[in-house]
Amino acid sequence: MPYRQIADNLQRVRQRIAAAAERVGRDPGEVTLVAVSKTRSMDEVRAAVEAGAGDLGENYAQEMAEKAEALGEADVRWHTIGHLQTNKVRIIADFVNLVHSVDSLRLGREMSNRAAAAGREIPFLLQANVSREESKFGVVEEDACTLAGELAGLESCRLVGLMTMPPYCEDPEENRPYFVALKELRDRLINRGVPAERMRHLSMGMTCDFEVAVEEGATLVRVGTAIFGPRA
Ligand SMILES: *Cc1c(COP(=O)(O)O)cnc(C)c1O
Repeated sequence: MPYRQIADNLQRVRQRIAAAAERVGRDPGEVTLVAVSKTRSMDEVRAAVEAGAGDLGENYAQEMAEKAEALGEADVRWHTIGHLQTNKVRIIADFVNLVHSVDSLRLGREMSNRAAAAGREIPFLLQANVSREESKFGVVEEDACTLAGELAGLESCRLVGLMTMPPYCEDPEENRPYFVALKELRDRLINRGVPAERMRHLSMGMTCDFEVAVEEGATLVRVGTAIFGPRA
């Protein structure tokens, strides 16, 4: 997709986020747009960055590392949004800015070890499966409290909130209950003793439903198609 189109799309998504926030009395500045650049070419990624995208989301560690290297010094924050395999953590440990998709202590421990070795701290989100049987990744509510407690104790990575991904993205209103459920899970975890500053972020909403997610309290939305067009 040509530069002009990507720049226009990005601006339009920002306007829609701002309008959704204002509908419910939120400050649009509370919502970070993560431009999901997985599978997009470097030309497309550069177009988005030049048009002001400061946060990029990728699913695969290797692809993210290659793009980060190609972009060089550009002022960009990198988000891992897809399922992260433990044996891939080392590929991204020295530059990733937020891992959205942590759902096991084993993965958390590996991140903490790799972050310590790189002399930094990696912020991350606990991925929750609020739609239960229908999605594969993420922890169910009964396990979330125990795991959040364990993850909050890791040395060199810092739990900063929750992420969810509904099973389908067709009718945005159908996904509203999942976003409400994530917000309620956050509140329950805080009630059960997880420090509120470890629950600051809610990563929810993609192209089809990001406005509903913003209405329900998202602080991070992950949007690909609405910025870069349909994937090939
Ligand atoms: C691909 C992807 C997105 C973006 O999806 P779009 O529908 O293109 O906006 C968001 N979150 C995750 C976890 C993804 O894998």
